[in-house]
Amino acid sequence: MKITEVLSAWKGMLAGRLPSLSIEVTRECPLRCPGCYAYDDGHLGGGVTLRELRDFKGEALVNGVLEVVDRLRPLHLSIVGGDPLVRYREMEALVPQLLSRGIHVQVVTSAFREIPKDWIGRDHLGVVVSIDGLQPEHDVRRAPATYDRILKSIAGHSIIIHSTVTGQMMRSPGHLDKFLAFWTARPEVRKVWFSLFTPQIGDSMEEILTPEERSRAVDEFLVLREKYAKLDMPPRLIREFRRPPQSPADCVFSQSTHTISADLRTKVTPCQFGGNPDCTQCGCVASMGLAAIGSYKVFGLVRADSIMKASIKIGQMWRPEEEPEPAPSPLRVLQ
Ligand code: SF4
Ligand code: SF4
Repeated sequence: MKITEVLSAWKGMLAGRLPSLSIEVTRECPLRCPGCYAYDDGHLGGGVTLRELRDFKGEALVNGVLEVVDRLRPLHLSIVGGDPLVRYREMEALVPQLLSRGIHVQVVTSAFREIPKDWIGRDHLGVVVSIDGLQPEHDVRRAPATYDRILKSIAGHSIIIHSTVTGQMMRSPGHLDKFLAFWTARPEVRKVWFSLFTPQIGDSMEEILTPEERSRAVDEFLVLREKYAKLDMPPRLIREFRRPPQSPADCVFSQSTHTISADLRTKVTPCQFGGNPDCTQCGCVASMGLAAIGSYKVFGLVRADSIMKASIKIGQMWRPEEEPEPAPSPLRVLQ
């Protein structure tokens, strides 16, 4: 982050705007990944599920997203799903319009289909491809976005890989090393980020890392970042996995990010996971990254996250209503 961006984010927070926005642009995804939080029954608070939510297509989707963005004025927008590439044509139309507003855009996809060629070499655009482990496991978990399909989809691009480390991976010796050896050798891969699987409170699943596995993952990240320059995780960030936030109130990422679901109205809380996530086992790389920034002491005196939280509180005084505006009427946005 540049100093001008930090100052701009701070100014926005004092004025009641959060710097980061994440939008689930569609309820659809061709994959059925085990442990997917977006399709968990509790993701949207336990009433309607993402698959049941009304969503938008065509011009209504493009204009609806622009309306939300123009109202909330984030510095950074994550486009997630479902899978955003289900709405391939809409994303092709939307992304250039977002970039022209000076917003940093990140599109998160399984790369089940080809990434638009028009996105190659675009400044301030990151395409993040989710890959869960080595080919034999990944291809079972994430078909039809298999390794072969991903390699075709990313040809000619410069992508970021995001992989969520599960308990199964940590029980397979050398898994992370082999994963990095394969993907960092690809010219299409610019960097790699790891998260750790984050459960909901009360979950009991094979994906959950034991405390020993979590600690070993952190040790491995610290060693592997020296071996693979594309593993783009500074030691300060990696060490944050050892002391995750204890609650959403303690999480700078949750405090500084709006997440909105596919009807462009429903808020996902307390963070992108929705439901009732177990912050004490959080493994979200974005949360750890912001925690690392938050732990810096400004002028050697005050922690940056204290300033950030105070600024958000001040900004909330100017924000009359926490509810998002009603979703755009498809008829209105088509006019
Ligand atoms: S690709 Fe993402 S949204 Fe789709 S099922 Fe897998 S984890 Fe869920
Ligand atoms: S990102 Fe992690 S720490 Fe933050 S609210 Fe979500 S689960 Fe909790």
